[in-house]
This record gives sequence, structure tokens and C-alpha cells, in this order.
Amino acid sequence: RLGNETIKAELGRAAWKVLHTTLARFPEKPTKDESEALRSYIHLFQRLYPCGECAEHFGEVLKQFPPQVDGRNVAAGWGCHVHNVVNKRLKKPQFDCSKIGDFYDCGCADDEKEKKK
Ligand code: FAD
Repeated sequence: RLGNETIKAELGRAAWKVLHTTLARFPEKPTKDESEALRSYIHLFQRLYPCGECAEHFGEVLKQFPPQVDGRNVAAGWGCHVHNVVNKRLKKPQFDCSKIGDFYDCGCADDEKEKKK
């Protein structure tokens, strides 16, 4: 059990990073299948999140703000919003979601080039 606050915070930073980076790389014009994959991913991310109380609270957040999976911009904006909801509950500063644009870079912009090699 992750009782230790430092470990819980470390887990949270890592998890948010993966989530936001995934949303920042989500297709601008996803297929129905891609949108459904993202929806499932987010719900399973919540369901299996290793910190139980976090998962429980985040489940309530998802009920209130269901995942927006119709494209990269709405998905990234949604991710920023729900993270801000969690920030608010934990009395952390709000992130300016207009700055989300280039903030999450996976360092994999060369994927296409790599494939051709
Ligand atoms: P974090 O909130 O981890 O953020 C990391 C970095 O992301 C920030 O430094 C900033 O650069 C950026 N950022 C901040 N806000 C946003 C935003 N809105 N959009 C995009 N980027 C942003 N901890 C608990 O103690 N109790 C809980 O119930 C709890 N629930 C959680 C639920 C989920 C789903 C997740 C992923 C984490 C949860 N956490 C919870 C952990 C908590 O959210 C933080 O990750 C942790 O406290 C570390 O906080 P931090 O201040 O380092 O920044």
C-alpha cells in the first residue's frame, strides 16, 4: 500500500505526465476506434490507479466530467481541466490550460522518420 505521501506524490507526477503526454499525442482527427480506445484507457486508468483514495475521488471527477475523446485539442483541454479539479481539491495552484500546447512533448516527433530507416 502506498501510504507514504512522498511516494504518492511521485506516482501522481509520473501518472499525470503519461496521461497529459498521451493526450498531447492523440490524433487531431481520430477514428471512432481511436476515440473509443482513449475513452477505455482513461476509465481503466482511473479504475486501476494504484492509490485507492485517489482512484475513488477521480472516479467522481470522471462522472462529473466524462472524457472528451473527439480529438487532440478537446482531449488535452479535458485532461488539463480534470487535473485542475484534482489540484483544487488538494489546494494546489491552477494550471493555465491555454499554455498546454507545447508543454507535453514526448521527444518522439521523429517517429515517422525512424520508421522509414
Ligand atoms: P502534480 O499535480 O503531480 O503535477 C505535475 C506537474 O504537472 C506540475 O508541476 C505542472 O507542471 C503540471 N500541471 C499541474 N496542473 C496541471 C494541469 N491542470 N494540466 C496539465 N499539467 C498540469 N494525491 C493525493 O494526495 N490525493 C488524491 O486524492 C490524489 N488523487 C489523484 C488522482 C489522480 C488521477 C492522479 C493522477 C493523481 C492524484 N494525486 C492525489 C496526486 C496529485 O495529483 C499530485 O500528482 C501529487 O500531489 C504531486 O503534486 P505536484 O504538486 O508535484 O504536481
